[in-house]
Amino acid sequence: MSTDLILVGGGLANSLVAWRLKQRHPSLRLLVLEQGDRLGGNHTWSFYESDLKASQHAWIDPLVAHRWPHYDVRFPGLERRLPTGYRSIPSERLDSVVGAALGDAVRLNATVTDVDAAGVTLASGERLDAGAVIDGRGDRGGQHLLLGFQKFLGQEVEFAEPHGRDGPVIMDATVDQRDGYRFIYTLPFDERRMLIEDTYYSDGPVVDQAVSRNTIADYAADQGWTIERIVREEMGSLPITLAGDARRYWADAPENVARSGLAALLFHATTGYSLVEAVRFADAVAAQRSFDAATLARLSRRISFSLWRRQAYFRLLNRMLFRAATPEERWLVLRRFYGLRKGLIERFYAGRLTPFDKLRIVVGRPPVPFFRGVACLNPATAGVLR
Ligand SMILES: Cc1cc2nc3c(=O)[nH]c(=O)nc-3n(C[C@H](O)[C@H](O)[C@H](O)COP(=O)(O)OP(=O)(O)OC[C@H]3O[C@@H](n4cnc5c(N)ncnc54)[C@H](O)[C@@H]3O)c2cc1C
Repeated sequence: MSTDLILVGGGLANSLVAWRLKQRHPSLRLLVLEQGDRLGGNHTWSFYESDLKASQHAWIDPLVAHRWPHYDVRFPGLERRLPTGYRSIPSERLDSVVGAALGDAVRLNATVTDVDAAGVTLASGERLDAGAVIDGRGDRGGQHLLLGFQKFLGQEVEFAEPHGRDGPVIMDATVDQRDGYRFIYTLPFDERRMLIEDTYYSDGPVVDQAVSRNTIADYAADQGWTIERIVREEMGSLPITLAGDARRYWADAPENVARSGLAALLFHATTGYSLVEAVRFADAVAAQRSFDAATLARLSRRISFSLWRRQAYFRLLNRMLFRAATPEERWLVLRRFYGLRKGLIERFYAGRLTPFDKLRIVVGRPPVPFFRGVACLNPATAGVLR
């Protein structure tokens, strides 16, 4: 056997695992199989500086193309600048840096049809054997999860003149509220270039692309910006977990096959973002002494179930947002949240809330009717609310 570990899918999670393993275990024989023509697809992955530890920043830093020392949120009646750093990784950077480090350990345009503990089969019929397999083929939805969605369409645009913004506006919710909680997200990449995303916390996953493109054009015009060129577009519909059964979700995974990323439910339940968990998972894999199939499969299940348990509180908040609040009221929940202390907001996004934080988020004057909120405590009743 010439391969120790096959990584199926060269998206965010498996690219980070492969890259971290290459750094820490250079003699390990890896093979990343990606169906697309590059690693990472077409995304901009952002995260808060406070999400990661110094040791994690140290290895992820070569992928970071944009850094800001603060970010803003805007709601009717609340504008706030938070002095928490924000960082972005474009997928082209992941492709060039990780691709160069992995060299011929990456095979592009390789679609995998079957996965088992001893290897994979490609669409061409070719069989590849390995000591272990990590399946990182991304979001697989699934009947065992009750989901809402964070969906968006973003355009990276170039303006005729400098836009004048000095940092990200993570949520500009002063726009019309429709199809759920709606906001515009902007990342200024340089003085004339910006990513503008039309974003919804919505009950359904479908992005109305034509509406979003018009919305972005209108938003730019309202700000007094003239779009000279649309550089690229990206689109997503991220799972926001309201309730579910992680063990049943995993039940169809072949024995002794590990999973990574969204496929392993490794994402923040309230944002659908997965970069932070992907960094943590890559570190956990690289900390192993043995890379056999049983060890990695056990590790990935353990990390997945542990995150699932720790995210129970976030699923409760999601039920409040999606079930106790009507779609038109959702922005009130977020406005109230952004009035809380900076440290709590940072711990919320890092998935490291303290018991006091959890209490602080829900006590006080509730932005949604009390009894609808209480009904959300039970996932079963929340599923049928409204
Ligand atoms: C447009 C967009 C923007 C996002 N922005 C952020 C953000 O700012 N911050 C954040 O933390 N999260 C963000 N997310 C959410 C999440 O982090 C991403 O979806 C992330 O890419 C998920 O990582 P993953 O490795 O699990 O899956 P993916 O990155 O989707 O990787 C799966 C890979 O598997 C490949 N694949 C699938 N099937 C096969 C097959 N049969 N054979 C071979 N290869 C296959 C796919 O082509 C893909 O490359 C964003 C998502 C999207 C869609």
